[in-house]
Amino acid sequence: MGEPKTVLIVEDEKNIVDILRFNLQREGYQTCEAYDGADGLAKARSENPDLILLDLMLPGLTGEEFIEQMRRKKTMPIIVLSAKAGLESRVNVLKLGADDFIPKPFDNAEVLAAQDALSDFNACLEAVQNGGKKQSLTALPYYQGSTMHALYQANEVLGSRIDQ
Ligand code: CA
Repeated sequence: MGEPKTVLIVEDEKNIVDILRFNLQREGYQTCEAYDGADGLAKARSENPDLILLDLMLPGLTGEEFIEQMRRKKTMPIIVLSAKAGLESRVNVLKLGADDFIPKPFDNAEVLAAQDALSDFNACLEAVQNGGKKQSLTALPYYQGSTMHALYQANEVLGSRIDQ
C-alpha cells in the first residue's frame, strides 16, 4: 500500500469520530479530525488528506456547503456519512460532488469497503490515464445502485475498450 493514506473526518459527534478513528487506524490509515465545517475546510487545505468522511449536519457550515466550497478547488474523494439519508438529500450531495453516500447508523465494514472501492477506482483511473492496463476491482454486492457501483461498471466498459 506504500505511504499510509490520510483520512480527514469532519464530524461534530465525538463518539462517532472516536469509532471512525479507531477503526481506520486499525486498518493502517492515518486520521485527522475536524468538529465543524470551517475547521474541516482548513484541515482539508493544511493536511491534504487522501479522502474525506463528511457529516452533513454540522455546526456553522453545513456539509453541503462544505462540498460546494471544496469542489471549487479540490478533487479529493468525499464520502458523506449522514442520517439525512432521504433520496433528495442523497441525490443533492452527489450532484454537489460527493463520491458516495453512506446512511447513518453505518456499519464500519461499509465505510472501509467504500474507501477501498474508491482507492481501487482511483488507482485504476490513474493506470488508464497513463495508458496502462485496467486493474481488477472488487465488486461489492451491497453497493448495487450506489455511485461506486456505477463507477465500477464504467470501469468495466473502459477496461474492455483498452483490452481490445
Ligand atoms: Ca452532526
